[in-house]
Amino acid sequence: MKCIINGQIILPTEVKTGMAIIFDEKIENIVKADEIDLSKYEVIDAKGNYVAPGLVDIHIHGYMGCDTSDGDANGIRKMSAGLVKNGVTSFCPTTMTVSQEEIEKAFNDAREVKAEGAKNGAKVLGINCEGPFINPSKKGAQAEDHIKKPDADFIINNADIIKVYTIAPEMEGGLECVEKVYNDGRVVASIGHTGASFDEANAGIKKGVRHTTHLFNAMTSLMHRNPGVVGAVLSDENVSVELIADTFHINPGLYKMVAKLKGDKLCLITDCMRAGGMPDGDYTLGGQPVKKVGIQCLMPDGTIAGSVLDLNKGVKNFYEHSGVSLPEAFAAASLNPAKAIGEDDKIGSLEVGKLADIIIVDNDFNIIKTIIGGLEK
Ligand SMILES: [Zn+2]
Repeated sequence: MKCIINGQIILPTEVKTGMAIIFDEKIENIVKADEIDLSKYEVIDAKGNYVAPGLVDIHIHGYMGCDTSDGDANGIRKMSAGLVKNGVTSFCPTTMTVSQEEIEKAFNDAREVKAEGAKNGAKVLGINCEGPFINPSKKGAQAEDHIKKPDADFIINNADIIKVYTIAPEMEGGLECVEKVYNDGRVVASIGHTGASFDEANAGIKKGVRHTTHLFNAMTSLMHRNPGVVGAVLSDENVSVELIADTFHINPGLYKMVAKLKGDKLCLITDCMRAGGMPDGDYTLGGQPVKKVGIQCLMPDGTIAGSVLDLNKGVKNFYEHSGVSLPEAFAAASLNPAKAIGEDDKIGSLEVGKLADIIIVDNDFNIIKTIIGGLEK
């Protein structure tokens, strides 16, 4: 049995010191450190740093030169290994609007790597299927040629591996798809890459949309007479939202407003593409050319194409600009996304009975140690 001492422990609603987290594969207990016999444990000294729940990235395409849609399970393994250094302990490899064959190959690769658990590094939770059921008018960096009419059976037939899928509910067959997948009950519908009006977005929510693909990006904006998708999802307490907190996708001045409106339904994601963790230069996303310069990834026409954000940096940016507490900032990248995809019974917070997915983080949000299922990675 192991135990972490001398940390500022980030619990769901408070930061505690003087405590010990006792764990094996799961968290066994969180007790006052001076009430236990430390000689019985393998002790990890957090040296005054934060001890927080492992981060959960539910929207990430690639990392370290690899992409989920490459058709190579080893690429997903490389992502797993690389993400550990950002404090990510589990993630959803995210597919793009590519051909059906390529999407299905990515599903099979994810199935293979998911079965390996934490062997490679961060665990695969399941796929985030971003496209092909999107609106060409809001395709962003997605390839228009591969956009398809919404098809509930495609999602349901792969519900063993898909956790969340993006849909533009205003497209022909969109509402029927949302309703059928919602009634099946296994995969979460996320409104995104959508030109829906406020009313069309609300119609989607009524049929079962419960999540939002990168709020503000690739959707209709909030205008006072035309509140759009942004107005609909910010107003509905059943709908969670993703936020890319790289300070470039969304003006950080808005983080506070979204935090106030969405509370524990705000999920920090990276939307990272293969250039994440790599030097500046030329890369591809979903088969399309992308140039990485600093924190920006742009297509030749200037369209933003994913990010190169590390999730721990996202937590830092969000904490510094939103005015939320430390537990709330960490929850936005752990408990909230785990809840959004129904995994919060197992992961997402430092609570007795959950898996020991734990990170030690300095006060500038650099990752010192990443522990997954009780094992140091
Ligand atoms: Zn994406």
